[in-house]
Amino acid sequence: MAVGTPPASVVIVGAGQAGYQTAASLRERGYPGRITLIGAEDTLPYERPPLSKAYLKGPEHLKGPEHLKGPEHLTGDEHLWLRPAEYYARQSIDLVTGVVTDIDPAARRVRLADGSGYDYGHLVLATGARPRTLDVPGTGLRGVHTLRSVRDAAALRASLAEARSAVVVGAGFIGLEFAAVARESGREVTVVEALDRPLARVVSARTAEHFTRLHRREGTRLLFGQGVTALHGDGRGHVAAVELADGRRPAADLVLIGVGVTPRTGLAAAAGLPVSGGIIVDSHLLTADPHISAIGDCAVFPQARSGDRLRLESVQNAVGHAQLVAERLTGTPRAYDELPWFWSDQFSTTVQIAGLGHGHDTEVVLGDNPDAFSVLLFRGEELRAVESVNRPADHLAARRLLGRGVGLRPEDAAAPGFTLKAHLARHRGGPVAPVG
Ligand SMILES: Cc1cc2nc3c(=O)[nH]c(=O)nc-3n(C[C@H](O)[C@H](O)[C@H](O)COP(=O)(O)OP(=O)(O)OC[C@H]3O[C@@H](n4cnc5c(N)ncnc54)[C@H](O)[C@@H]3O)c2cc1C
Repeated sequence: MAVGTPPASVVIVGAGQAGYQTAASLRERGYPGRITLIGAEDTLPYERPPLSKAYLKGPEHLKGPEHLKGPEHLTGDEHLWLRPAEYYARQSIDLVTGVVTDIDPAARRVRLADGSGYDYGHLVLATGARPRTLDVPGTGLRGVHTLRSVRDAAALRASLAEARSAVVVGAGFIGLEFAAVARESGREVTVVEALDRPLARVVSARTAEHFTRLHRREGTRLLFGQGVTALHGDGRGHVAAVELADGRRPAADLVLIGVGVTPRTGLAAAAGLPVSGGIIVDSHLLTADPHISAIGDCAVFPQARSGDRLRLESVQNAVGHAQLVAERLTGTPRAYDELPWFWSDQFSTTVQIAGLGHGHDTEVVLGDNPDAFSVLLFRGEELRAVESVNRPADHLAARRLLGRGVGLRPEDAAAPGFTLKAHLARHRGGPVAPVG
């Protein structure tokens, strides 16, 4: 691993959450060299979470970062910016709009589609992911969308304004968040999911059941165990209906395909770097080339505690990865060991997840309000994850407990009167053996 003097220059490919944060953290840590941040999108780096939530409702619903408070002429996109334009000039971060087409690892140089090139001392790949689509007829019809960029979100918002009925294919976070906005704005909404419940990859059956109830209560039709076989047009090139495997055909003048993403690994693979479901990196987020790191949604990294290879799609992961690379490049290397956490807003519900619960064998539920509870997911005696629905205090306590490795057994969590906060208070100060 390259430790020692910082590289003379850092080139970052991808000006999304992870790319921006790398540049910002390098400067915060006093990195004196040249930073070039290259992004394919013709906009300043911005945050994506509002794109499936407040952004779709209109600019007045966007709060925006502190630095943008006040001006009334803003159209909405500015509220998504991570920093205003002056920031990059002030911090001497060269922000370049362009598509990197290849990497020459021997010459340590990247080339862009317009023929320009940049030499690097260290290269950071933060290329993110692209949305998957469906392999069925009709995906090219007008009114059929995927959602990743602000441009996608603007098109979706315009379609929503005209639509009476929307079909969402895929009951993941992005699909359900959009479904909630569409329903709140009075559209007829159908969600079609191939599996037997929503959010199957990311939450427990208990939490998934809550979201099923919530969306149904709000009037959304949820169809599980259903494949889509075709999208049908109205004869004028616009989508009109979705055909399901069982022959049903819900009407749709808007379709959102929310069936997950594919990490952007093409550049890395062409440069000879190992790729398998993402760009493979070690615990320091270095690829097989010691002069190239990969971070954020495009990177597959080893989870410190289990050694399992993971690729995560979250702001926390993108920011955590970026900070670690900035620390390494400024002389403080460490292995990546951060607790993953996520959130989603749908209707008036916020779910917050700390840790990774897959493979759990025991669940303990805290709280008897069906609209505000936490599910503790254990594997054996080990607490793996906590899903909090409208219980933000539980989420904060869970992050601290899991982050510090404080022990908790399922039987203690199930005891009457147990709270995460009180358990944390009892074990303030660090890892301890399980209670009892
Ligand atoms: C609609 C939506 C809602 C979300 N909501 C949440 C949420 O509520 N909570 C949460 O934690 N996470 C959420 N996420 C996920 C989160 O936004 C991502 O995990 C995060 O943006 C990943 O950051 P990244 O920098 O790895 O990738 P990205 O933000 O995707 O940035 C990658 C950038 O690289 C550029 N790029 C790729 N290849 C090249 C190239 N060859 N040359 C130049 N540029 C290139 C791309 O154009 C893109 O701009 C959401 C994502 C979406 C799309």
